[in-house]
Amino acid sequence: METHVALLPSAGMGHLMPSLRLAAMLASRNCKVTILTAQPTVSAAESNHLNSFFSAHPHIQRLDFHVIPLHSSNPHDDPFALQFEAIVRSVHLLPPLLSSLSPPVSALFLDIAAAECVDQLADEPSLSISYYILSITSARFYSLITHLPHLTLEGSCNNLQLPSLPSFSVSNIPPVLFNPENIFTTRLISNLRAVSKVKGVVANTFHWFEPETIEALNSGRTMITLPQFLPIGPFKYHKSVCENTSLPKWLDEQPAKSVVYVCFGNRTAMSKDQIKELGEGLLKSKQRFLWVLKSVKVDRVEETGLEELLGSSLLGRIKEKRQGMVVKEWVQQEEILSHPAIGGFFSHGGWNSVMEAAKSGVPTLDWALNGDQRFNAEAMEKAGLGLWPKHWGWLGERLVKSEEIEEKITQLMEDHKLRSMAQKVGEEATKAWEIDGTSEKVLGQIIEMLKLKV
Ligand code: UDP
Repeated sequence: METHVALLPSAGMGHLMPSLRLAAMLASRNCKVTILTAQPTVSAAESNHLNSFFSAHPHIQRLDFHVIPLHSSNPHDDPFALQFEAIVRSVHLLPPLLSSLSPPVSALFLDIAAAECVDQLADEPSLSISYYILSITSARFYSLITHLPHLTLEGSCNNLQLPSLPSFSVSNIPPVLFNPENIFTTRLISNLRAVSKVKGVVANTFHWFEPETIEALNSGRTMITLPQFLPIGPFKYHKSVCENTSLPKWLDEQPAKSVVYVCFGNRTAMSKDQIKELGEGLLKSKQRFLWVLKSVKVDRVEETGLEELLGSSLLGRIKEKRQGMVVKEWVQQEEILSHPAIGGFFSHGGWNSVMEAAKSGVPTLDWALNGDQRFNAEAMEKAGLGLWPKHWGWLGERLVKSEEIEEKITQLMEDHKLRSMAQKVGEEATKAWEIDGTSEKVLGQIIEMLKLKV
């Protein structure tokens, strides 16, 4: 019988993109795939992307999962973290949905932010399925957070050494994890308690990129018993049918490897002062640039125009010098990174972005701003993909001045050693997907596990 698998993505583009890519990868290996789409989505980007994904992949089935909305009186609560909570609280609606699928579903892949659902689903007599988690972060950060339910984090020591894992610098742990009351932290810990109940953890990383951590996770010598860690990155791109997101023509007119692509993911809202320093730094570097500027966390919120964000003087100079382009719309990042004109990527170190840069072998300057990004940046730097100016601090910790940005952008674009190391990363990423490549083999192993229901 055909192997039928379901996926449950959670909220935010950084979560949705890897789920869709995994769905497309499983479908390309002859699995029937159904995606449970939590409705309503938090951002417009998510609903647009889902529509274009299903148009481009008509053989993948969509099943809307109407979650019970969760309203918070605290305006500081992250809307994406609230949606993670809403999905978990709506878990009782999942068994009838899953049971309605034909042929019967044999496995469910849940985004790590919805992992807690396994607790209830596993006890559901009407379902006979195996569970997998999709980790959307570096193996390095995953290895820390799996231990979170068993640790008391203290800011007073410098390093954290867990048995058989690489040591972690405490200053790289996101401050929010030291606050057990925070909704993000409580949710993460509950999700991580469920990890031990799943068959495997599928991850968007590859053996060559994080060898020690991946081997440690699968060594059986960690402090707690962990399910098999299954690295199958960098995830392959999926087709999408997006109108209005064609690459800027300007890019085609630029010389090879001459443009810095600047994008800090979907959810980074920088202060206006910092945005101005960034713009001045880019201009001072004299490098060509394509800058995707996002000023709000959720794209449904009224956005400020470019002129108001950058100021008319800076915007005027950018236009006058024709050194670069600033856009506020959603762009096809993976296509941009593989464009011949791109010579560097100035990023926030979101893990999808790191893997996309690795795939294209583009030297990266990571300004780790939030969450897992310092751990990701450490992994990225260690693999030789690029630079991480750690002293720039977390988002908002201090104003990073234009001269500092200019210096690092120049290094990013002009350091030949950096460029050849990044190219080597790209070659290794390609090898991971060749016949008998590490990721190709692990994906084959996952398909076998699904078929045999082991
Ligand atoms: N992305 C994109 N276009 C944009 C902004 C982001 O395609 O205009 C994609 C990017 O390629 C990546 C994802 O959105 O796949 C962002 O995920 P990441 O983990 O890098 O960062 P997050 O947004 O979760 O902080």
